Amino acid sequence: MTNTIEALQAMPKEEAIACAEEVLLHTYNRYHIIFEKGEGMYLYDSEGRKYLDFCAGIAVFALGYKNEAFNTAVKNQVDNLVHTSNYYYNFPSIAAAQKLTRAAHMDRVFFTNSGTEAIEGAIKTARKYAFNKDGRTDHEIIAMNHSFHGRSMGALSVTGNPHYQEAFKPLIGGVKFAEYNNLESVKALVTDRTCAVILEPVQGEGGIYPATEEFLKGLRALCDEKDILLIFDEIQCGMGRTGEMFACQRYGVDPDVMTVAKALGCGLPVGAFLVKEKAASLVAGDHGSTYGGNPLVGAAANAVFDIFEEEDILSNVKETGAYLFEKLEAVKAAHPQITDHRGVGFMQGLEFAEPVGPLVAKCIENGLILISAGTNTIRFIPPLIAQKEHVDKMVEILESCI
Ligand SMILES: *Cc1c(COP(=O)(O)O)cnc(C)c1O
Repeated sequence: MTNTIEALQAMPKEEAIACAEEVLLHTYNRYHIIFEKGEGMYLYDSEGRKYLDFCAGIAVFALGYKNEAFNTAVKNQVDNLVHTSNYYYNFPSIAAAQKLTRAAHMDRVFFTNSGTEAIEGAIKTARKYAFNKDGRTDHEIIAMNHSFHGRSMGALSVTGNPHYQEAFKPLIGGVKFAEYNNLESVKALVTDRTCAVILEPVQGEGGIYPATEEFLKGLRALCDEKDILLIFDEIQCGMGRTGEMFACQRYGVDPDVMTVAKALGCGLPVGAFLVKEKAASLVAGDHGSTYGGNPLVGAAANAVFDIFEEEDILSNVKETGAYLFEKLEAVKAAHPQITDHRGVGFMQGLEFAEPVGPLVAKCIENGLILISAGTNTIRFIPPLIAQKEHVDKMVEILESCI
């Protein structure tokens, strides 16, 4: 059976969801909500219910829904040109590349369609860099336990979560896992074949664990000493989420390779990997993408950078993020079942003594969209425009549900 969109909209919700479950691959256990529109910090479902959003489509929609400047930029580009392939140049992607490389302190960028593809590019960059030095094809990568880098085979191979990996082996070879924030555990894995160390400056999916300054600085020194590429996955913690444009900038440590996605296109599918000049190992024929960096996503990313500046998004994250921190400290103090509070800016987590799935579901029933990170941690990753009043409202609903 097929339906028009209008016919689906006219159905009772559960009937439309049954249509979905008949044809979608069942890789998600979805909430029984169909969202139809958004405005600012709020989402509206098909039954007209309003939800305060502290998830932002998993750290994607940084600018808030229905941002007029963003929507106008995207609409204008749709009318001009959507896609041409990478055999030619296009103006929006040149502008986006300039702004992104400047913000990231990097020299060159390759646009991808997702985070996981950005990780693939970073892995290929590292292997090629090492290959250029010694011609060997047995190079190793050191990744972190409890990391998350995506679902494609390469990205999965550096994701330190055996549960995600098991059924899909064999993965790409030569990956070893160290303990996050433990420099000695990384040093112990380095060999003459190590080509890269990859990590998130703030671990996201793994439960909101920020790196220590000592760890990042220690890794930078280690990688410099051994000529190993340092890869920072800023896909979730980047693009202003911690109050700096990229989380590593809080520590003044630049990587050799950086991956970005999620908020980069604010909902349009665009990711990127960026390299310092010395790590620009991929050359013509080594890598490609049919869609990557097309004019439409270029216009979106370009607009995102402009709006970040115009609306001074970073200042808001610093100020309101500090307010969120205070409020969550108070929530933690009031509830003994909360065992930890971690994070910074608009990337914070509350860890509970038990799985948080039921609490998240209850908050959603009460008009607050939250998301977990790992099984026991609630993650707070709102659009970067959230104000104190939104934090207050969020805390009110959360406390009523605990
Ligand atoms: C989401 C995420 C990815 C994967 O991005 P996709 O766009 O889902 O492929 C990789 N790394 C981190 C840190 C992420 O949060």
